[in-house]
Amino acid sequence: MTRRPKSPEQSLIEAMRGWGDVLLTWRLCPRTACARARACKGDARDCFPRHFKLLPQGVQDWFAGIGQAQKEGAPFDEAIEWLDSEGLGEALGAWCEAVEQSLPGRPKPPPLVGEAK
Ligand SMILES: [Zn+2]
Repeated sequence: MTRRPKSPEQSLIEAMRGWGDVLLTWRLCPRTACARARACKGDARDCFPRHFKLLPQGVQDWFAGIGQAQKEGAPFDEAIEWLDSEGLGEALGAWCEAVEQSLPGRPKPPPLVGEAK
């Protein structure tokens, strides 16, 4: 079987889809197919930038930090360490946890004190 080399366009789509998986942008996608697959099934070039803006600020900063580290040629694990020390790893972790808890079939968080009637 021969594989055709990926076009730069294809690589870009795949990279964006991969980042969408890391940042869980599919959670913000109104498409049923994306929600069901828990991954972006649409055109990631359209989906990713659109949903990115809705991410918590800390998560956006985390991603910007990765981009900056990449531009400076820093190794990935060093970039992660740096972002953790800036508290941004924590922001990403909190976001992932919130997404996890928001999914159907998860136990609901208890009602806030004073809210339950
Ligand atoms: Zn989507």
